[in-house]
Amino acid sequence: MAPQPLFAVASEVLTVRSGALIAVGAFDRSANTKNKLITNSHYTLPYSEQQRLRDRAYRAQQRDQSEVCGVLLANAERLLRFHFMTNAAEEPGVWALDRLDLIKVRRSYSTTEWDVVGTFHSHPISEAIPGPRDFASLSVHQLQLIYDVCGRQSRLWTRTSMANGTAPRELELRITKKPNKPVDATASSSVVTATSTAPTHHL
Ligand SMILES: [Zn+2]
Repeated sequence: MAPQPLFAVASEVLTVRSGALIAVGAFDRSANTKNKLITNSHYTLPYSEQQRLRDRAYRAQQRDQSEVCGVLLANAERLLRFHFMTNAAEEPGVWALDRLDLIKVRRSYSTTEWDVVGTFHSHPISEAIPGPRDFASLSVHQLQLIYDVCGRQSRLWTRTSMANGTAPRELELRITKKPNKPVDATASSSVVTATSTAPTHHL
């Protein structure tokens, strides 16, 4: 992996050059009280969640090339869920989460089985790989799921420590099988991946 630019994440709020505002401190290990972040095993994304993200990300891309975003939740079984939030960025192709919104969302899950373990967002026209701004907003105690609208693929990332700094590291993401629904005429296969059953759409 090529050396990545390093970003010191010292303050709780990280202001990225684009104006993106991301509450990095919300993902400190100390704040993660229920489930410890596991980075040496896979996470599982239910098919229905993948569909939800796919549909919303596609609509945003078609509307104005914007990105959808929110927080990523996980339970003790490393099952993932999305909590969609308003994209606070004002320009297309950028995402940002409002810090106060983040705190509220985090609090709303504090008595549930779900932990806020990171963020997710969509890439309207690029691969599901963290860009410099994405990487800047990612801490070693956090996951980041990126959905590629064109490739119809979700990928899961964390920041990992290297000998000479930190770099993005991909984690295994498993998508559950599509549930059998006889009424769904579009159902074609019971085994799916992140990319196999989405309708074809091109820019
Ligand atoms: Zn991104």
